[in-house]
Amino acid sequence: MGMTITEKILAKASGRSVVEPGENIWVDVDVLMTHDVCGPGTIGVFKREFGADAKVWNSEKIVLIPDHYIFTADERANRNVDILREFAQEQGIKYFYDITDKSNFKANPDYKGVCHVALAQEGHTRPGEVLFGTDSHTCNAGAFGQFATGIGNTDAGFIMGTGKLLIKVPATMRFILNGEMPPYLLAKDLILHIIGDITVAGATYRTMEFAGVAVEKMTMEERMTLCNMVIEAGGKNGTIAPDETTFEYVRSRTNQPFEPVYTDPDAKFYSNRRYDVSQLEPVVAQPHSPDNRALARECSNVKIDRVYIGSCTGGKTEDFFHAAKILKGNKVKVPTYLVPATQKVYEDLFKLKYSEQTLSEIFLEAGCIEPAAPSCAACLGGPKDTFGRMNEPEICVSTTNRNFPGRMGNKEAGVYLASPYTAAASALTGYVTDPREFLS
Ligand code: SF4
Repeated sequence: MGMTITEKILAKASGRSVVEPGENIWVDVDVLMTHDVCGPGTIGVFKREFGADAKVWNSEKIVLIPDHYIFTADERANRNVDILREFAQEQGIKYFYDITDKSNFKANPDYKGVCHVALAQEGHTRPGEVLFGTDSHTCNAGAFGQFATGIGNTDAGFIMGTGKLLIKVPATMRFILNGEMPPYLLAKDLILHIIGDITVAGATYRTMEFAGVAVEKMTMEERMTLCNMVIEAGGKNGTIAPDETTFEYVRSRTNQPFEPVYTDPDAKFYSNRRYDVSQLEPVVAQPHSPDNRALARECSNVKIDRVYIGSCTGGKTEDFFHAAKILKGNKVKVPTYLVPATQKVYEDLFKLKYSEQTLSEIFLEAGCIEPAAPSCAACLGGPKDTFGRMNEPEICVSTTNRNFPGRMGNKEAGVYLASPYTAAASALTGYVTDPREFLS
């Protein structure tokens, strides 16, 4: 019987030749990631269940990434990072991306920033492997043909002690994206379009596998944007077949061997959906749900108070590159916040050029607020002093992934999720704006 990418990875990780959707199986874990918000809880579960002096199952397979509430005076948030540090030292954790000097993040060469982008940039997202993380957007790494999904602190504490987890094999929904990608569309438009079609519960506990010519032509960062948001449709994980684009990205970041797997021609799918991307238009997800889709041009009367470009979904180097393309030579009409996902992305803003100017020069000339230190920042609201947090009931166009009430701070605030093109175009007009107005 043929199997999908997800079924093959889980079969291998459970030591079986075949698995079927719905089966409960024990899998061996290749990577466990946790961050400052869930790490202390996970460590607490591990110590309670395995003993105060217990040792983790493998100190080289656990990745600790402080990223959420870093640049804040909030004492409890700061204490969470200290707990990660103490645990990393006690257990000899190899991959701990620490920050000690918060006044100058650049003085912390180990500090990365947002976990999902950091995992990819540091070579932890390898085809054919199993990655669990205490964060719902761990599905981001499905872009590499890895089985990657978010789990709670209890499961993560159990993995810390055993390196195993019992999970149910998800059925796979396939999304075939064919056609020529129009120059005004980005992966964010495609995933918002799909979620609008299937709703926020449309893929509950299923794999969303993306295939087709449009996906094959995508860069790794665009593929990440697709997989990052499968959780917004309830998906267990996302997958994309690894190819040369994947191998080039991964091999330039790690020497660890990996074995890619591929969906068989006779694999069974829960459903098949086909899209001709050449027919799609720029979209937004209106408040207060990622499936509340509308065409960007249909919202042109929506006046906005700010724009936010950042997060694991929309704060990667290419996302800023896309924003710069629109902003170059123009002036923003609303406060425009820029939060690079990682330290590497931050450096890129000051190094990479679009049409003779660095991205940061373009942004500053356009009147954007200076790029912030890399972290999750206001994507998840955070403590009151978080950069870019929505402390007032304002309207924001954001490249982030979730717009439920209160997600970016104030419960009355309204967040329009959009691509970097649409976000940048909206910054220039002060209204939700179709980016075609600025892309010649
Ligand atoms: S950037 Fe936002 S979505 Fe991504 S990990 Fe941080 S809080 Fe979660």
